[in-house]
Amino acid sequence: MTDPLAQGSTIGILGGGQLGRMLSVAASRLGFRTHIYEPGALPPAGDVAHLVTTAPYEDNDAIFAFATTVDVVTYEFENIPTLTLDALEDHAPIRPGREALRVSQDRLVEKEFLQGLGLKTAPFADVPDMAALATALTQIGTPAILKTRRFGYDGKGQVRIMDPTSAEAALAEMQGAPAILEGFVDFSHEVSVIAARGPDGAVSCFDPGENVHRDGILHTTTVPARLSASQRTDAVLLAANILNALDYVGVLGVELFVTPQGLIVNEIAPRVHNSGHWTQNGCVVDQFEQHIRAIAGWPLGDGKRHADVVMENLIGDDMGRVPELARDPATALHLYGKAEARKGRKMGHVNRIVG
Ligand code: AMP
Repeated sequence: MTDPLAQGSTIGILGGGQLGRMLSVAASRLGFRTHIYEPGALPPAGDVAHLVTTAPYEDNDAIFAFATTVDVVTYEFENIPTLTLDALEDHAPIRPGREALRVSQDRLVEKEFLQGLGLKTAPFADVPDMAALATALTQIGTPAILKTRRFGYDGKGQVRIMDPTSAEAALAEMQGAPAILEGFVDFSHEVSVIAARGPDGAVSCFDPGENVHRDGILHTTTVPARLSASQRTDAVLLAANILNALDYVGVLGVELFVTPQGLIVNEIAPRVHNSGHWTQNGCVVDQFEQHIRAIAGWPLGDGKRHADVVMENLIGDDMGRVPELARDPATALHLYGKAEARKGRKMGHVNRIVG
């Protein structure tokens, strides 16, 4: 697909959560239709999409039927089964492409890829078993973090090892899943770059945001981040380096640790990212529209920041604050329409204009 996607075309989105919902809204603003594919009932994205398929990713017939209705396929999460992608790829282009998924689905592959580009990461070692963990701990030292190679998100699937005597218990927590050990990075703060690349190779990065986590979940993103001019340049250049190496099309999130030795890449996410939600009220074109523009082969929009913004996630009970937040004139509310406010569940976010 090289021609820009025409008005009225349908964008297929794998995953019907809040990211799919906001992608869908952005797509409709540009005159596109969306078709959401989601295994769970009542997906938040379903409220704002033209078509919704509710079926498991392993259901080949449903995937085939979905594929025949869409002009391009994108996704809101990285753990899409390989067989689903195999079934889709003969029918519609998948953007971002499969290489980005292959690399970001597995922390070991991801770290090796980043190092191959000359980027700094935490020291790491493959941990298939207890003997490998013992060796890795002698090489990397403590404190260290043991993480599952796949399916980790919001701090899930990871355990800190403060001293080697707790190694066995930590490995047991992986429940047999392949893991990697990472050395503990002594960072001053965490930032992320949300970057976009079009099929013609054009790249546009949003201003890096500074991220604070609570209980492993993103709590706030503040822009501008505390970075020197040269750190800011480094952040943007390394994101562009990753995009080009993957021949990437779409929006990518790059999470970074800021240390006196420079920027260390924690992980990449081949999709729109929670730490890019501030762009909805801080930029002319936000990350969701930028992603849709890129995958549709449209020119990338202007991602320049025109305001200082603090994005705060509304998790679980935070929904009780909505009436008060709705009265604050400097605050833009973005709610996801989820019926049940469970503990730890992302229910919405606010973007507060602070300057
Ligand atoms: P992750 O799931 O890899 O994004 O990790 C979640 C959070 O754990 C990060 O945002 C950091 O705050 C922390 N973390 C992860 N890996 C490391 C590391 N190697 N050193 C220090 N902190 C880490």
